[in-house]
Amino acid sequence: MGQVIDLHVHSTASDGSDAPDVVARLAAAAGCSSLALTDHDTLGGLGAARAAADELGIRLVPGCEISCRWNPGSLHMLVYFVDDDSAGPLRDELARLRNDRIERNRRLLDRLVSLGIRITAEEVADVAGSEVVGRPHFAAVLVGKGYAADPQDAFDRLLGRGRPGYVAKARVDPGDAARIARASGGVAVLAHPLSLGIPPPDLELAIAELAAAGIAGVEALYGRYTPQERADLSDLAGRHSLAVTGGSDYHGTFKPDLHVGSGTGDLEVPDSALAALEDRRP
Ligand code: AMP
Ligand code: ZN
Ligand code: FE
Ligand code: FE
Repeated sequence: MGQVIDLHVHSTASDGSDAPDVVARLAAAAGCSSLALTDHDTLGGLGAARAAADELGIRLVPGCEISCRWNPGSLHMLVYFVDDDSAGPLRDELARLRNDRIERNRRLLDRLVSLGIRITAEEVADVAGSEVVGRPHFAAVLVGKGYAADPQDAFDRLLGRGRPGYVAKARVDPGDAARIARASGGVAVLAHPLSLGIPPPDLELAIAELAAAGIAGVEALYGRYTPQERADLSDLAGRHSLAVTGGSDYHGTFKPDLHVGSGTGDLEVPDSALAALEDRRP
């Protein structure tokens, strides 16, 4: 029996509420031997996380998470093993995505203001505290100013897909994400596969297509999934020779039910998951 790890954690570099060094400390405190920092659209938190991880004697796996084009649900791709000082195509793609976010957020704010909601870009930037500003930050401001009861209410009524405040952001074709990851020396993993929004029989087909497109693994061991869902998704990954990986998707106060290393309490990702990913590095 190996040690537990966590391969999906967010920090203040994107839409988590804890700084990168703090999440490294939380991982060590939770007994994790390895931690992957996987902020949305940025590698910017990796330096600080690695410095803290080194001090704590745990391994920092470089990562990030990117949103891909998909219907009807959403498809998030985790990319591992690409460092913040790399000059590969991933770096360029992330810069493009961050750039688009700035314009998207401007339009999102305009949309909210046109709905009679009086919040400002400064208020959102203050909550975010870093260059990658996302809808969870908007949700926090909406709650803070009494426009929503809680973050979920903000998404359900205003920010979620199909709601009046929704503005789409740039997305990446899933196959391109896998190619970009590999061309940058990394691997791509399908995050929280049930977000794809398709029933299990069709999920088989979707995973087969993603495997053919070059993904390396499936995040079967996800913080919010039941033991049965995790087992079924692990079997599914195995049928397509994909690594079974896992993580908490910790976001601090932005997703208060999730904890580093243990998800909603019962998550245990074995360190063999990381070894299986390493085996698939290009
Ligand atoms: P953004 O990258 O700015 O589009 O924000 C995406 C993030 O918002 C996701 O990672 C989720 O954490 C959160 N999110 C998106 N849709 C919902 C929803 N319907 N309910 C709650 N949170 C959501
Ligand atoms: Zn997030
Ligand atoms: Fe995600
Ligand atoms: Fe995430």
